[in-house]
Amino acid sequence: MQEAIKQVLETINSYGYKAYVVGGYVRDYLLKIESNDIDICTNATPKKLQEIFKELDLSSQDYGSVTLMHNNIRFEITTFRKEIGYVDHRRPLEVEYIDDLYEDLQRRDFTINTICMNSNFEVIDLLNGQEDLEKRLIKAIGNAEKKFEEDSLRILRAIRFATSLGFALSEDISAAIIKKKHLLRDLSYHRKKEELDKIFSSSKVKEGIDLLLQFHLEEDLQLPKLKEVKNTDSLISVWAVLDAVDIYPFNNSEKQLIDEIHIVLEKDNLDPKVLYDYGLYPNSVAGSIKGIDKKKITEAYNSLIIHSKKELQITSEEIMDILHKKPGKYLKDIYNDIEQKVLYGKLDNNYDMIRSYILQKY
Ligand code: ATP
Ligand code: MG
Repeated sequence: MQEAIKQVLETINSYGYKAYVVGGYVRDYLLKIESNDIDICTNATPKKLQEIFKELDLSSQDYGSVTLMHNNIRFEITTFRKEIGYVDHRRPLEVEYIDDLYEDLQRRDFTINTICMNSNFEVIDLLNGQEDLEKRLIKAIGNAEKKFEEDSLRILRAIRFATSLGFALSEDISAAIIKKKHLLRDLSYHRKKEELDKIFSSSKVKEGIDLLLQFHLEEDLQLPKLKEVKNTDSLISVWAVLDAVDIYPFNNSEKQLIDEIHIVLEKDNLDPKVLYDYGLYPNSVAGSIKGIDKKKITEAYNSLIIHSKKELQITSEEIMDILHKKPGKYLKDIYNDIEQKVLYGKLDNNYDMIRSYILQKY
């Protein structure tokens, strides 16, 4: 990783441009936390970068930031910039490329995210980010209220960093969150969810939820059930309790899973038929929400006599043969009946027993 970073920085340098690692990677490197996401800042424009790295695809360019894959490592390279005139408290009206690192750092969010490293891994710390890193403090660059007015996502980023790093929020950030939290209402649910996902999947998720509640963000985030989240074993269990699929973006399989969790929350998750019908995963998530030991549910699932129709010792053809009937809706009813009996141990799962049961009952 470090060798690849050195190569990328030195390559840009060799064309006469400045280039530094900045942001999360440096922050985490100094905290001895592993990080795979590498942000680089440079005074080379995206066009120049393409001349330097021929393989660069500028169509992937997003607000002047380009993605370079080198040795299978992803580098997000961003040209020094000044952001002018924020619209809707979320994006700059205009971006102007500049030559100066100090000025580029000014537009960023928190001091701990402004520490840079050059190709020799020497730290360049123009805004005293290291001091706040040592104090374990999230501090805004300049005026916190103004930072949140420019981009209200920074409110959630502050809480995310406080959560995942276990850092404190500076007093002015806390005050500014209270003053500006209403701006979160206008932020896209997509961007909000990205940060919330990071908070909810952090190992310190409980502290994160406490912070969100402490600032009463449940209203502005439209998460009225935030207080009800007690179990935080998995991201999906948190979202299932939050019950927010109508406003936050989820893909179809996530929606389906959350629906199933909601259904089985109302049921007995150790019941063989419930385990059989909905499967292990929704039941163990629902179980964890209700405080049932996951091991208990797994054991109950593993000891089911059958886990799917395929395991029943009879086929549709055989049922039709036994009854001398053509296919029809009746088959489903018979299947349901047999499944139920077998699952509850009232009928042995073997062909002869099932056959005589069918002959006797149908
Ligand atoms: P991580 O990658 O660990 O989530 P990060 O700090 O690297 O954290 P990124 O989203 O990768 O976060 O952004 C890289 C850098 O860009 C940040 O460190 C920060 O300096 C700046 N940045 C990102 N988002 C914002 C924002 N909304 N407002 C201001 N600066 C930002
Ligand atoms: Mg990053």
